[in-house]
Amino acid sequence: MRKTPAYAAAGATSPLAPFSIERREPGPREVLIDILYCGVCHSDIHQVRDEWGGSIFPMVPGHEIVGRVAAVGDEAGKHRVGDLVGVGCFVDSCRQCRYCAAGEEQYCEQGMTGTYNGRERATGAPTYGGYSTRITVDEDYVLRIPDGIAPERAAPLLCAGITTYSPLRHFGLAAGDGLAVVGLGGLGHMAVKFGVAMGARVTVLSTSESKRADALALGAHAFAATRDADTFKRLRGQFDFIIDTVSAPHDYNAYLSLLKVDGTMVLVGMPDQPLPLAAGALVARRRRLAGSMIGGIRETQEMLDFCAAHGIASDVEVIDIAQINVAYERMLRADVRYRFVIDIASLSSAD
Ligand code: NAP
Ligand code: ZN
Ligand code: ZN
Repeated sequence: MRKTPAYAAAGATSPLAPFSIERREPGPREVLIDILYCGVCHSDIHQVRDEWGGSIFPMVPGHEIVGRVAAVGDEAGKHRVGDLVGVGCFVDSCRQCRYCAAGEEQYCEQGMTGTYNGRERATGAPTYGGYSTRITVDEDYVLRIPDGIAPERAAPLLCAGITTYSPLRHFGLAAGDGLAVVGLGGLGHMAVKFGVAMGARVTVLSTSESKRADALALGAHAFAATRDADTFKRLRGQFDFIIDTVSAPHDYNAYLSLLKVDGTMVLVGMPDQPLPLAAGALVARRRRLAGSMIGGIRETQEMLDFCAAHGIASDVEVIDIAQINVAYERMLRADVRYRFVIDIASLSSAD
């Protein structure tokens, strides 16, 4: 076992604070990773504050992990010592059900094993995430970071990237489609980049008028402020596809009204409160409302390779671990441009 510095929340109302965990030596098919960077996802906040229920404390969050392989097990052949690798939202699954067999481990019938706030399948021990200096993971659940993407800008791809890439692909975003991205945060800014790269005409719908110039600089073709009621009149029935990344409760019906006949709105944001849905918002125009959760290992690798091929990476603000509680407050105010990423060297000094 290796004593490993980390940051943890002791409970749902506790700030994150220094903590110590043990990481095991790699088993035959595992790799030990020295973590370089870990992105800060809004899901970290939801789970640390137990907004979805069932949180396991103490909790070491972090599921946007990039690091270097430090050791590999005897039978592990996928990654070599020194390789730049990534770990996303899960570290294990049953490997046998139809979804695992199809490479969609996130929908495993027995439940994926979360990188943190989960339980190891073999032992039931809690899993701890990337706000720590190292992690031991089965090689099959480790991604290869392609050359040419800076490691700190790659980290958010492991959750924000795949969560937006996967539904655009699955629900068939086509070149020339009108795509609205609702919410310009960590997920939203990646959705803009992917939408543009896939040839869509992208409009950002945001509560923050101050993000207009950024939205256009990210490649969006248009921007509309959702605090302006006129926006919903003007854009009524205009979009083929909407991806909703909003983390807080908001009126789905208003956004559905912006879809054309046969349009699709995909929810990836996960507010903690249920929201009313008017049947007419779907029925009247044969619209679809869908959801999507991250993506499987194979598709995550495809997304990383797509990013390398298209020069796509996350726009990040690198922080020291000591700034994490302030970073959470800023995210809650929608004040992040566009992903906080923890420099784990700021934690290793305690190693
Ligand atoms: P984030 O960086 O905090 O961005 C969320 C954005 O939502 C904000 O920047 C803001 O954009 C908008 N927003 C916030 N409050 C709002 C409100 N009251 N009304 C309207 N818009 C509001 O968060 P994130 O990391 O991108 O995560 C977004 C959501 O996706 C979270 O709920 C997270 O848990 C979820 N998530 C889901 C998956 C999945 O697999 N489905 C994966 C990762 C994350 P504007 O300033 O532009 O309005
Ligand atoms: Zn996430
Ligand atoms: Zn399974």
